[in-house]
Amino acid sequence: MYMRAVCRFLILLSVMVSGVVKSAAQDAMPSRVTPVMPMARVEIPEHLNPGLAVDLENPASFLYPEWSNSYVHNYDNVKLPDSVIISMKGYCMPTDSTYITDKFGYRPRRGRQHMGLDIRIKTGDTIRAAFDGKVRISRYERRGYGHYLVIRHPNGLETLYGHLSKKLVAENDIVHAGDPIALGGNTGRSTGPHLHFETRILGNAINPALMFDFPHQRAQTDFYVYEKNTRAVYYKVKSGDTLSGIALKNETSVSSICRLNGISSNAVIKPGQTLRVR
Ligand SMILES: [Zn+2]
Repeated sequence: MYMRAVCRFLILLSVMVSGVVKSAAQDAMPSRVTPVMPMARVEIPEHLNPGLAVDLENPASFLYPEWSNSYVHNYDNVKLPDSVIISMKGYCMPTDSTYITDKFGYRPRRGRQHMGLDIRIKTGDTIRAAFDGKVRISRYERRGYGHYLVIRHPNGLETLYGHLSKKLVAENDIVHAGDPIALGGNTGRSTGPHLHFETRILGNAINPALMFDFPHQRAQTDFYVYEKNTRAVYYKVKSGDTLSGIALKNETSVSSICRLNGISSNAVIKPGQTLRVR
């Protein structure tokens, strides 16, 4: 068995060597010369440079101009780059639960967008930091996220953990991927213990399932590329609005709005309802 493998290797080697000799001989003949294309230079974004020391005191300063504990997702005055490469390196699953109870996106029953992923847990289950980072927000919202945390990470993401029963970290604390940051719960607008998990770039919510595969407890990818032009745009329905009117106003089509929201073209739309238009 071993000898056969060695033989196979030697045959392969001789084929390779003869190949080299042959192409060298061919190179001597001008008519056979193949032009050598310069290797494409891959631009590595500065923040992904492996030699760069990670500044956890000031995470992702290449994207976020300031550090503030005052707002949750208000970045209207910050210019979003055309694309951002998010490295999943060093990630940790925030919970070991594999059960998704609500997906990201439009909820027809409630007529609004769900900006995160809901994962079933038991009250008291450990919630862990998804990446190294710094805790930006620790707050309580009775009608919303309940007890929640927002962490900013050096890869450009901000992660949000909602409906917690107990927080184990405070604002401006430095955390490492996998650190217990809270205990899961059922606080705020919640009908049962679950983790509401959001991933955002400069306030723009991205479907966490594109990066974190909870059912298999692994990352979906090594690098997630966020493209600005795939950024979702939402419209709040006003009284008197029709689907065709909304389509016209937002330079899109009724069929496209229906597809994005999972509704039919004769669906009843109500004032106050949010529709994704792009
Ligand atoms: Zn949720």
